[in-house]
Amino acid sequence: MKNFSFSRAGTAPEAISLISKNSHAKFLGGGTNLIDLMRENIEQPDVLVDVTRLGPSRIEETAEGGVRIGAEVRNTAVANDRLIRQRYPVLSQAILFGASGQIRNMATVGGNLMQRTRCYYFYDKASRCNKRDPGAGCDAIDGFNRIHAILGASEHCIATHPSDMCVALAALGATIHVDGPGGPRAIAFDDFHKLPGDTPHIETALLPGELITAVELAPLPFASRSMYRKVRDRASYAFALASVAAAIEIEGGRIRNVRLALGGVATKPWRAFEAERVLAGAEATEESFLRAAAAEVAGARGYRDNGFKIELAKRTIASALNELARREAKQ
Ligand code: SF4
Repeated sequence: MKNFSFSRAGTAPEAISLISKNSHAKFLGGGTNLIDLMRENIEQPDVLVDVTRLGPSRIEETAEGGVRIGAEVRNTAVANDRLIRQRYPVLSQAILFGASGQIRNMATVGGNLMQRTRCYYFYDKASRCNKRDPGAGCDAIDGFNRIHAILGASEHCIATHPSDMCVALAALGATIHVDGPGGPRAIAFDDFHKLPGDTPHIETALLPGELITAVELAPLPFASRSMYRKVRDRASYAFALASVAAAIEIEGGRIRNVRLALGGVATKPWRAFEAERVLAGAEATEESFLRAAAAEVAGARGYRDNGFKIELAKRTIASALNELARREAKQ
């Protein structure tokens, strides 16, 4: 690991000022991904600015009836929070399906938003990787790509986004609050993570020196009956092969409201807008769910080892929606 200097900021402006002085500086949250990347020399910052003690770490109700979560709040605290569990259970479940208890105790909300792909070739410095070394090529496209993306990929990168938490935030349509040299601003969740296109090394909409300060969830009453379903190779401590964050409201047998997002299959947390469009106003039946799922993956592309994800994504969507519909019918 390369030598680096360490600073601890006490306020957001201090953190932003510290990072602005060095173009090779990085903010440090829980360090559960960044430190691994530094050990592998994938990330080589000169300066780390600890942003976990910028003030009281908070989850609070907004005046509009939503919830605002400080970026430095630990993942465990979000998953266990009463308001989150009551109003947005999909978020609590998604976090609890990710990583391990020890990692969730350390990981922060801001850090989770910034975590990087677990593509094997990205971590292997002997491999070609456009994300690590722009213009080098991509060894995953013709290599072993079982865990890679079927949605949102480009000829330059097919890596999946690894976060479970972000899939729930995509479904909930969260807003990301940031601050930086240009002042505070808000970014819609769907605009925050970038598709790889021909610049896979640019992963988010953050500008240089910008710090994530909070995540805000708007009121969404039907999200109190939401859920997260994750399919993976083993029952714990594994990334998703396919996952679904879903919330649905049914009235008179028809779908009045729906939110759907996918993980494990796309290059960014994937809001399933096409499936939502098909489901709006449709009968709440398995046939509708399968039709919506098929519409969402109609543009998917499988590579040598990951073609199975197309069918897996369809079945996972339908299974999550069926489960929610069954629960609604029992109420
Ligand atoms: Fe790198 Fe993306 Fe290719 Fe993986 S898929 S090797 S992260 S360019």
